[in-house]
Amino acid sequence: MRLYILDNGRLEGDFNWIVAMSTVGTLENRTPPIKWVSIPVYCVLIDSSEGKILYDTGCHPDAMNGYWPPNLTSIFPYYHNDNQLLTKQLALTGTTPEEVKTVILSHLHLDHAGNTRLLSNAQVYVHKKDYNYAVHLMASSPNPQDHGAYVKADLDFPADRLHLVDGDLQLFDGVELISLPGHTPGLLGLMVHLKQEGTLIFPSDALYCTENYGPPTKMSGIVYDSVSFRASIEKIRALQQKYDAKVMFSHDLAFFNTLKLVPQYYR
Ligand SMILES: [Zn+2]
Repeated sequence: MRLYILDNGRLEGDFNWIVAMSTVGTLENRTPPIKWVSIPVYCVLIDSSEGKILYDTGCHPDAMNGYWPPNLTSIFPYYHNDNQLLTKQLALTGTTPEEVKTVILSHLHLDHAGNTRLLSNAQVYVHKKDYNYAVHLMASSPNPQDHGAYVKADLDFPADRLHLVDGDLQLFDGVELISLPGHTPGLLGLMVHLKQEGTLIFPSDALYCTENYGPPTKMSGIVYDSVSFRASIEKIRALQQKYDAKVMFSHDLAFFNTLKLVPQYYR
């Protein structure tokens, strides 16, 4: 089994979204400058005896050209070069989009589900509660700016390839989905047991960066359910200890810069 990290570009934004209340005004300093940061967007390709498995699909390449609503391009501008397109990153592993057999979407936010349309032969796994929430938001208002961080067109894949997961699931030998609600109503983390490099846990946005992990845990600025958010981090901590695993933070640029990127791989 080989596991590749695919670079899908960078988002920028206010660090308060990553670690909530990291910039706070005081009597002495009523308007402190916020921290504007760059964060990575990445996907994971597992080449296994069960076929090619893709965890998350990144941002749509036209995000900044009208595909995302203007409230989101302004809060989280997206930057990428040609080499960071999902198709180019897959090609570095010798994979075409049509060859991907299984897609796992950690959740349906715009930086995780933006290229699902390209994986035209894949079975798609999504957390049931996240899917239902996104569909509910879209049914409640025709205005894209009312859909939170979901983009309606990202959900446009055939229902006969969609699998809704509600809870932990061993998908294949060595590949487990872990339910980590809080950031969104439902979120699927990925745990992979590799022969040589041990266990890797991809918590997606249940855990953006080292600072959220602590201990102590620090909340992020985008939380659907704060009680579940904290419980999910403790679930990750317990799994990390149980398997002596490496936690693969989702949006931590300093951490990302330490990873082996495609065409290198973990095995
Ligand atoms: Zn994200």
